[in-house]
Amino acid sequence: MEKEVLVEVSARHVHLSQADLEKLFGVNYQLTMKKELSQPGQFACEERVDILGLKGSIKNVVILGPVRAATQVEVSLTDARTLGLSAQIRESGDIAGTSGCTLVGPQGELEISEGLIAAKRHIHLDPETAIAWDLADKEIIAIALETPERSLVLNDVVVRVNSQFVTAVHIDTDEANAAGFLYGLGKVLK
Ligand SMILES: [Zn+2]
Repeated sequence: MEKEVLVEVSARHVHLSQADLEKLFGVNYQLTMKKELSQPGQFACEERVDILGLKGSIKNVVILGPVRAATQVEVSLTDARTLGLSAQIRESGDIAGTSGCTLVGPQGELEISEGLIAAKRHIHLDPETAIAWDLADKEIIAIALETPERSLVLNDVVVRVNSQFVTAVHIDTDEANAAGFLYGLGKVLK
C-alpha cells in the first residue's frame, strides 16, 4: 500500500504561557485568532513578537495559540545561527536544558532561560491511520519528499499518535528548502 501523507512546513513561531503573554502584551491580555491550523484547536494569532539573540534578531514572529503551560520558541537552525544562539532539536514540550532567548512585545520584554528549540520533525497520526499503516507512537520512520530536482528522504521522523490529531507531517523551513519543497504530499517509508 502506498502511504501518502500531507506534509506541512512550519515557519518559526512562538508558544506563550498566559503569564509570559501578559508580560509582553499587558495584564489580562487574550490572544486573537487569525487562522486555524490543521491540528484541531491550534491557531495562528494576529499578535507578533521579536526574538533577540546574542548576534541578531528576528522580527514579527507569529504566536500560535492557545496559550500553553510553558513558553517555547521554535526556529530553524538557520534562524538560530542568525540569532547567534544554539537551538537543540527537540520534540515540542521537551525543553529542559535548552537555550534561552529574549522576546520583545509591545508592552514589555521577557528573557526566557530555556525553550528555544528546532522542532524534531514528526508525523501526526490519528489512531485509525496508525493501525492501517502499522505505525506506533514514538516509532521513528522516514518520509520521502519527491520534488523534481532535490528529492530527499528525511530520516528520524518521530511518529505521534493521538485521537485529536489530523494526519500530517510537520517539517521546518530548512528541511523543506533542502528539498525545494513548498506544500504537498510525501511518502511514508518504513
Ligand atoms: Zn506538528
